[in-house]
Amino acid sequence: ERTAESFLKKPHEKSDIKKVIAVVSGKGGVGKSLVTGLASVIASRCEYKTAILDADVTGPSIPKMFGVGGQVAANEEGIFPAESATGIKMVSTNLILENPTDPVVWRGPVIGGVVEQFWTDVMWGDVDYMFVDMPPGTGDVPLTVFQSLPVDGIIIVTTPQDLVSMIVEKAVKMAELMNIPVLGVIENMSYIQCPDCGKKISVFGESNLEAIADKHGLDILGRLPIDPKLTALCDAGQIERFEGNWLEKVAEMLLKMLPE
Ligand code: ADP
Repeated sequence: ERTAESFLKKPHEKSDIKKVIAVVSGKGGVGKSLVTGLASVIASRCEYKTAILDADVTGPSIPKMFGVGGQVAANEEGIFPAESATGIKMVSTNLILENPTDPVVWRGPVIGGVVEQFWTDVMWGDVDYMFVDMPPGTGDVPLTVFQSLPVDGIIIVTTPQDLVSMIVEKAVKMAELMNIPVLGVIENMSYIQCPDCGKKISVFGESNLEAIADKHGLDILGRLPIDPKLTALCDAGQIERFEGNWLEKVAEMLLKMLPE
C-alpha cells in the first residue's frame, strides 16, 4: 500500500521530474538493467530529458553499461547526478561508494532509505522521464523501494525460460497492491537471429507470453533477441550506440505519455 507518507516525500527543490517508470523482473539476470538502459536511450533519442535512478542497490550495473565511472559530486545542498555521453543523468550506489567493487550487504530497510535519498537529495534538475532499475524480484526489497518513490508506471521484463505466467502474475499483483499501472511487458532473450539467413530461432521454445499478456490486458512492448553485439556494447560501456528497432513500441508509449 502506498501511504500518505510516501506521497509527501519530495524530490530535491532543484528537481522537476515529470514521469517515473520502474523496470521490474521476477529474478536477477534476465536483462532488467539492460532493458532499463535501452529504454532510457530510446527516451533520450526521442529528445526527452532522461534520468536513471539505479535502485538495484546491491547489484548496480547501470553506470558500467553507460561507461560512467568515478564518484558523483556532492555539496551541502545535495548530490549532483553523473551524466552519460549523451546526457542521461544517473545515480547509483556504484557512483557513491569509494570502492565500487566492495560488496553491498545492506538489508531491505537500509536499501529503501538509500533509494529515498536518491530521490530526495539528488539535484536531478528538469527530467521528463526517470527510469528506475528496481531490485530483482517481487519481494520485500522492491516493495520497500516502491514505497520510497512516486512511480507512475511499471515495465515487466521476462525471459522465455522464466516461469512467465507466475512472474507476470506476481508483478501484476504487486502493481495492483500499490495502485500503479503496468505499462507493458518486454520479453528479453526471446530468440536468436541467424546472421546469414535472418531466420529467428526460439532457443528456449515458444513462450506463452501472448496468452498471459491477453489474460491481464497487458501490452507486449517488445521482444529482444540474444545479441552478442548488445553484450559487447554493455561490456564496453557503450549501450548508447545500440542499433535495433526491437523497442519501437516503447518510443510510441513515451510519446503518448508526454506528448511533444
Ligand atoms: P538483470 O538486471 O536482470 O540482473 P542484466 O541486464 O544485468 O540483468 O543482464 C545480465 C547480463 O546479460 C549482462 O551482462 C547483459 O549484457 C547480458 N544480456 C542481457 N540481455 C541480453 C541480450 N538480449 N543479448 C545479449 N546479452 C544480454
